[in-house]
Amino acid sequence: MSPDDARRDELAANLASVEERIAAACTAAGRPRQDVQLIVVTKHHPRSDLDLLAGLGVTEIGENREQEASTKLADGGTPPGVRTHFIGQLQSKKANAVTRWADVVQSVDRAKLIGALARGAEAAGRELTALIQVNLDPEPGAGRGGAEPADVPALADEIAGSPLRLGGLMAVAPLGGDADEAFERLAWLHQTVLAAHPGADMLSAGMSGDLEAAVRHGATHLRVGTAILGTRASHR
Ligand SMILES: *Cc1c(COP(=O)(O)O)cnc(C)c1O
Repeated sequence: MSPDDARRDELAANLASVEERIAAACTAAGRPRQDVQLIVVTKHHPRSDLDLLAGLGVTEIGENREQEASTKLADGGTPPGVRTHFIGQLQSKKANAVTRWADVVQSVDRAKLIGALARGAEAAGRELTALIQVNLDPEPGAGRGGAEPADVPALADEIAGSPLRLGGLMAVAPLGGDADEAFERLAWLHQTVLAAHPGADMLSAGMSGDLEAAVRHGATHLRVGTAILGTRASHR
């Protein structure tokens, strides 16, 4: 078996077990499986994994570093039929670069990014969907980015009034915290945003360790990395 075949088999097996977890979580929550979209987070892993995943039917991938993603996608572009999500902390000076390859930017957490993203998307000729990243850490500015919940409704209005499409909300559960409690707060905030912007129906929450809690609280998008790809380039 070639190393590529072995890696394909490994990814296929991991995808199948994550798929089982998602299906079980949907059943437990009484939600249809098709209401939840899997985004495979390919950060720290090589371009060859992207192509293998696309071949296995993966249609959504996530990257968290602009530089790493654009290098990976420069070779041959995005695999056909794959949508790309930027999920990392976004520096203002990188906002323009992200719009060259991303279909969705999930980490908009301040108004300052909106203009740069809108200009970049226009120049790239793409419709860009923006999610607001919400900080669920009880301590403001715990360092992983995200708008404070109180600031989210105004930020949603600003995005909705811009050329960007307001997709919804994204969050990471606090480190060492209770994911259920955090995602419940996120779901409440999402309801507030939905009341003003009914099209903002995306709720991106849940990673390898807490996807079940996210599905329980209405996540429409899960961002799963290590459960599918393993830890950082472990196969090399
Ligand atoms: C890396 C990352 C993920 C995936 O996390 P895993 O625990 O590897 O599944 C999800 N969301 C964000 C924002 C990330 O940076």
